[in-house]
Amino acid sequence: MVAGGHSLIPMMKLRLAQPELLVDINGLAELAFIAVDGDQLRIGALARHADLLESAVAGRCFPIFHDAERVVADPIVRLWGSVGGSLCQADPSEDLSAAFAAARATAVIRTLDGERTVPVREFHLGPYETVIGRGELLAEVRVPVKPGTGSAYEKVSRRVGDWSIAAAGAVLTLDRGKIREAGIGLTAVGAEHFVAVEAEEFLRGRAADEESFSQAAEIAAEHCHPAADQRGPEDFKRHLVAELTTRALRRAAAGSRADTA
Ligand SMILES: Cc1cc2nc3c(=O)[nH]c(=O)nc-3n(C[C@H](O)[C@H](O)[C@H](O)COP(=O)(O)OP(=O)(O)OC[C@H]3O[C@@H](n4cnc5c(N)ncnc54)[C@H](O)[C@@H]3O)c2cc1C
Repeated sequence: MVAGGHSLIPMMKLRLAQPELLVDINGLAELAFIAVDGDQLRIGALARHADLLESAVAGRCFPIFHDAERVVADPIVRLWGSVGGSLCQADPSEDLSAAFAAARATAVIRTLDGERTVPVREFHLGPYETVIGRGELLAEVRVPVKPGTGSAYEKVSRRVGDWSIAAAGAVLTLDRGKIREAGIGLTAVGAEHFVAVEAEEFLRGRAADEESFSQAAEIAAEHCHPAADQRGPEDFKRHLVAELTTRALRRAAAGSRADTA
């Protein structure tokens, strides 16, 4: 199927994808919504990057999405590229995959018989591969909204509009200065399911301070698997992971404190 076509069409041009049949889902206007429903932020699969960037409610609940969308590609790609297409493309450098994984979002998959839900952390099976099967469609993504939560996304790329050399997103829920729950998403650095699980576990119950953040960031850098490529050597990418994770955690903690003030 084709949504914005910004990933699929280039792949077809390069003959990396050769679908026999292409279903255009752009007519499914009912999947182009962004709304808070109870204690969840719901984002339809056909919401465009630009919609998410402009959504006041999404920015208020999760600044991480605005941070990430500001650095996804360029305005032309953002006008057509969709949230669902981003997740389903499963590019290891996709920014939203890391942001949604950090926020512990759930993917709602519509099947021929009904619907099933899968945590975004289990949605990607590997590069360019997801749990979506034949006859299934990603319909929406649901993100739990919790009081006292802050979030942020930090990315380094070679030039404006380019894919990440490395990026880190953090979602922190604090309780009286201590970290109740931490989500850390990493992209472009070979983190399994786009998350830094060991660093998240390290943070749980600790003080939300600089020492905790820098130690967690070092753990995140140690446990990811960046590949040396045209964007830089492995040690440079690990250095970026540590620095960007620290910055994202610092800003997420500030957001959490502001949310509870
Ligand atoms: C020049 C350029 C720069 C870019 N830079 C970045 C960047 O910096 N960061 C970043 O994160 N991304 C970047 N992208 C990717 C961009 O975000 C794409 O828009 C996005 O990856 C795919 O969204 P789409 O709607 O265009 O998907 P499509 O190309 O239409 O589809 C992609 C894949 O997902 C499947 N699919 C789409 N929607 C669904 C659905 N609802 N259910 C099931 N399967 C579905 C399609 O069948 C296809 O296999 C860039 C793209 C371009 C062209």
